[in-house]
Amino acid sequence: MRYRSRLIVNLSRFSSNIDKLKLLTPKAEILAMIKADAYGHGAVHLLRFAFENHSIREFGLATLAEALHLRKELPDFKFEAYVFSDSQISLAVCQEWYQENRIIPVISSLSDLNLFLQSRCFRYFPLVLKFNTGMNRLGIDFSELVEAIDLVKKSGRRHVDHLMTHLANASLNLSKNKMNIRQVNNFNTIKDEFRSCGIHIDRTSISNSGAIEQAGDLGESHIRPGLMLFGPSSLIASQRAGKWTGEMISSLETYIIQTYPVQKGTPVGYGASPCPHDGLIAVIALGYGDGLSNRYRGSSIKHRGFTGKFCGRVNMDMAQILFPPQAKGEIRAGERVTIWDSDQESFLQLCDQTETIPYEIFCQLSSRVPRIYRLE
Ligand SMILES: *Cc1c(COP(=O)(O)O)cnc(C)c1O
Repeated sequence: MRYRSRLIVNLSRFSSNIDKLKLLTPKAEILAMIKADAYGHGAVHLLRFAFENHSIREFGLATLAEALHLRKELPDFKFEAYVFSDSQISLAVCQEWYQENRIIPVISSLSDLNLFLQSRCFRYFPLVLKFNTGMNRLGIDFSELVEAIDLVKKSGRRHVDHLMTHLANASLNLSKNKMNIRQVNNFNTIKDEFRSCGIHIDRTSISNSGAIEQAGDLGESHIRPGLMLFGPSSLIASQRAGKWTGEMISSLETYIIQTYPVQKGTPVGYGASPCPHDGLIAVIALGYGDGLSNRYRGSSIKHRGFTGKFCGRVNMDMAQILFPPQAKGEIRAGERVTIWDSDQESFLQLCDQTETIPYEIFCQLSSRVPRIYRLE
């Protein structure tokens, strides 16, 4: 079968990214963040690959449903699945699902901590606590530290299995940005407090991709990489010191359905947007139904040595690309067009032009785009 459009996922590059990550953080264990279907790349395939080829055993998801799906698809794989945000542990039925499928909720509030410690379902489950050290999104608040320690002590537990926090500004300078400094300091205080109260902390983590790129594991036992596994840097341009040499693992391919010549002013597509100059329109088989949003309008892609620009509105199933007049006779229907490939620079440029970030571009890809896995 010939696919209309597809995302090619190169497992060899995924593999070499993990090797590079291990070189950057030789002492740390990897808790691989593969939420949102591994940032659009397909969590089932990438989990299986990382488990079998790199002995990664811990994986981070956002929702209970994501974790249940992986358990169901990979029943013979003994991995740990952590649910980070949409954990819903207050629902009795969810507690049972956690228990039956051994999925570990990350506890991010005092009320959930209370529930967790009191629930029979979780009695023999590892205690994983996430603290808010300044990001002010999820997490047990720094000001609730004493209360949290008290609850843990009263429950009879003497261990926190994994203590973590999440950085708000990891894409900015880690050693100079005030928020980063404050968060790391707060995290150290939290660890000290637990220990001084006689509670052992088995494992800890702070670093997401941005932090890992800059400073590795930050002295913690674990790292929690997401984006970097798939290639792109998550640092702002001025911060990229070249430490992360990961490669893009995916390329988004489509093909040209039709071409036709246009003149400056020719109306194109919905809304009859006038062409800004003479040239050749190529209609490609990707639209917002595939995850290409109207933010792509005006951004450029290269094809056969020509630079074309998304022209007019992105449609549900198609988009128009305007090439210069010289492309006439050179660019034809049926040709494969690549929206991004292994070239990270041009991918990051696409992010800039569309005013998005790599995370968004990846996650927007819809299920209509088949993911094809290759080992090169
Ligand atoms: C998503 C997430 C990560 C991974 O972040 P990246 O920037 O993709 O590396 C790490 N930790 C937590 C808590 C997350 O939610």
